[in-house]
Amino acid sequence: MFLRYSLFVLVIGGLFTNFVACGAQMYQVSLKDDTQLQEDDGSEDPASLQYGLHSPHGWSTLPIQFKVDQSLTPEQKTGLVKAMATWEMAIGKKLFVFQGVHNGISGDSFPDLYSSLGDNVNGHYLDGHWDKTGKPKLVLATTIWENTREDAKKISTADIRFNSNYYLIGDSVTAVSEDAREVVDMQTLAMHELGHLLGLTHVIASVDRNSVMSPTVFIGPGLTNRLLSKGDIGRVQKIYGCEGTACDIDATLAAINSLQRNQDTVKSAESSH
Ligand SMILES: [Zn+2]
Repeated sequence: MFLRYSLFVLVIGGLFTNFVACGAQMYQVSLKDDTQLQEDDGSEDPASLQYGLHSPHGWSTLPIQFKVDQSLTPEQKTGLVKAMATWEMAIGKKLFVFQGVHNGISGDSFPDLYSSLGDNVNGHYLDGHWDKTGKPKLVLATTIWENTREDAKKISTADIRFNSNYYLIGDSVTAVSEDAREVVDMQTLAMHELGHLLGLTHVIASVDRNSVMSPTVFIGPGLTNRLLSKGDIGRVQKIYGCEGTACDIDATLAAINSLQRNQDTVKSAESSH
C-alpha cells in the first residue's frame, strides 16, 4: 500500500479576517490544520534539519513530467508556469516538463480526490464540483501525492486539484469576478501548492515571516505573493541541491525579486493603457 498524504490550502469561515480596502473585499485565509503528516518526522520541529520538509528525498525522477486540465485557461497556465519557473530558479535546475493537455480530462473526470493519482499522470486539475473531493469549500486547492514503496520520504507521483468551483482562480491583478466567487491569484496559489508538490510543508511566521509556505494567504482582487523567501530557497535546496549561481542564496533571492518586479512593472504598464 502506498502512503498517501494530502496538504490543502485553507479552512474555516470563523478564522477569516475580513476587511475592505480600495473598494475590494480581501480575505486572509488560514491554512492551519490543513496537513496530514507523519508524526515524529521532524518536519514540524523548527529546530530539526528536516523542518518544513515532508518528503526530504524529493522526487524519484526529475524533471517532473506534468499535464494540465483540458479546461485550464491561458491565464491560469501562465500563472502555473511562472510559479514553476520560480522554483526552478531557486535551485538552478530543470524541475518541470510540460507533457501537454490531458485530453478529455478535468478534475471533474475523477470520482473523488485521490483517484486522480491512479493514472500515472502528474496533473494540474480544475475541480468544478469541489464537494466530491471531501474538502470544505473554503479550501482553495489540494496537493496530493504518493511516496515510493522503497522510500517513504521520496515522491513518485502527485496532482494538484484547484477549487474552481468556489473561487475564480486567475491573475488577481486583472481578474474580475462576475459571480459570487472570490478572486484568487493563480501564480500565488500555484507557488504554495508546488511547494507541497516538491516536498515542503507549512512554515510558521515566527520561523520565516515571508515564506510562500506560510499557513495564511491573502486572497482577493490585486492580492499576490509571488516571491520566495530566503528560507524557502534554503529549504528547497536541502531537498534538491543547487547548480551554478543558484547556490548563492542571497543572489538567487535578489534575482527572483528582480524578475518579479519587472513582470509586475510590465503588467501595470499594460493595465494603465
Ligand atoms: Zn498548504
